[in-house]
Amino acid sequence: MLDLKMYINGEWVNAQSGKVREIVNPANGEVIAKAADGDVEDARRAIEVARRTFDEGEWSGMPAVQRASYLFAIADKLEEKAEEIARLETLDNGKPLREAGFDVADAAACFRYYAGLITKPDGQTYHVADPMQAMVVREPVGVCGLIVPWNFPLLMGVWKIAPALAAGNTVVFKPSEVTPVTAIKLFEIIEEVGIPKGVINMVMGPGKTAGNELAESPLVDMIAFTGGTVTGRSIMRAAAGNIKKISLELGGKSPNIVFADADFETAVDYALFGIFCNQGQVCSAGSRLLLEESIYDKFIERMVERAKNIRVGFGDDPNTEMGPLVSEAHMEKVLGYIEIGKQEGARLVVGGNRITANGLDKGYFVEPTIFVDTTPNMRIVQEEIFGPVLVVQKFKDEAEAIELANDTVYGLAGGVFTQDGAKALRVIKKLRAGITWINSYHPTYNEAPWGGYKQSGIGRNLGTFGLDEFMEVKQININLQVEPVGWFEN
Ligand code: NAD
Repeated sequence: MLDLKMYINGEWVNAQSGKVREIVNPANGEVIAKAADGDVEDARRAIEVARRTFDEGEWSGMPAVQRASYLFAIADKLEEKAEEIARLETLDNGKPLREAGFDVADAAACFRYYAGLITKPDGQTYHVADPMQAMVVREPVGVCGLIVPWNFPLLMGVWKIAPALAAGNTVVFKPSEVTPVTAIKLFEIIEEVGIPKGVINMVMGPGKTAGNELAESPLVDMIAFTGGTVTGRSIMRAAAGNIKKISLELGGKSPNIVFADADFETAVDYALFGIFCNQGQVCSAGSRLLLEESIYDKFIERMVERAKNIRVGFGDDPNTEMGPLVSEAHMEKVLGYIEIGKQEGARLVVGGNRITANGLDKGYFVEPTIFVDTTPNMRIVQEEIFGPVLVVQKFKDEAEAIELANDTVYGLAGGVFTQDGAKALRVIKKLRAGITWINSYHPTYNEAPWGGYKQSGIGRNLGTFGLDEFMEVKQININLQVEPVGWFEN
């Protein structure tokens, strides 16, 4: 049984209340860890430490190349311990081991990317009126509260921690209360590489108490959040008190559009990957498949045939292609949506049930599920299910495809499959979404910005944009002719 503590001011501590939370393996319902369950008081302590540490200025004042060396060291250690961390991620979250392995590799690469970026040329100068010289410098925002969800527990944290630290901020990080295990491993590494005490702290515990305090506290300068849109709205409200900088990576209901002239097997393959990877618990999942009329039946037939063959099982079995959902509560939510879909009159062509055969009865396994005969106003078409549930929509032409694609409150991602390059770009340019693919779905890179339009969020993670989020911009005007301005005569 793992014993997970919070990390505040360089020390491993229990919740002040003494409360602990049981952490469950979603593949078999067994308790794998007891985690300190912090609340408002613990968050306050961590915030005060981060505030004091930022104001002392050692971290922000450190040469960028030196801060970068810590980040490079974290990347090296993540790689050294990749196998152990991936196994823990699978144990805690349920995802297949090969996916957990990709997450750890990506996390290490993200630290390297920002370690490199922070040492590159920065700032601007302007030609303004003589004798003034104007320039712009970028500075850290200050104390950053970082809150992340359970679907990529390590990676979502790293997407924020790496740029926040690179920029010279101090941090209070809160992992999801459902999946804190790999965050502990990351903080052990942070301790090992010797990042000064107080620069980065971690509180665990529920969003409504510990998380809300990060969003609300006047001592926090910025809140960077990844999670559901409803929570994002609550965070915006809480952050309004001291006009915090906010960055929100929220939910999605993303369209994957397949035209009749697409390479058929490629499009089928990516459509499956788009929705069933990570059990569908991906914010950018291609959860709405939009098919051109003439290929509709044939495409669905092939999808059903292949979906039936997806190997669902324990994440640590190398043959497994899809694992359990993250928790019993989440499984119930997903099964609830499947019922809603049936009641709304959508037709289930594959899946739809919890899986209990082959020793999976104690875990939270749900079959790959596909609904057809949907209409745009159905809840299963409009709302994020965040599970292995695909809804299929039919379109006649390009204009209808675009109209259907944009017809939700979300705007996170989208894909287009066609062999007509001009059509592909025309359609992508009309999509109101921040992350898009042509003849592909899902690959994403540390170098490119990640984030959504509409109710999918504000701001961007990753790339140079992801660093900008964690920096303020300051203009400096220098008078090169030091003499009185002479505005007033006497
Ligand atoms: P969630 O919003 O319930 O929780 C996310 C985090 O916020 C957790 O750490 C939780 O403790 C905390 N939290 C909850 N209520 C809070 C409050 N009132 N104040 C402050 N913090 C609070 O989301 P979840 O169920 O953990 O994750 C699934 C959601 O995350 C999905 O909607 C998914 O689309 C979204 N997501 C988005 C992205 C993206 O990049 N856009 C990436 C991954 C997941």
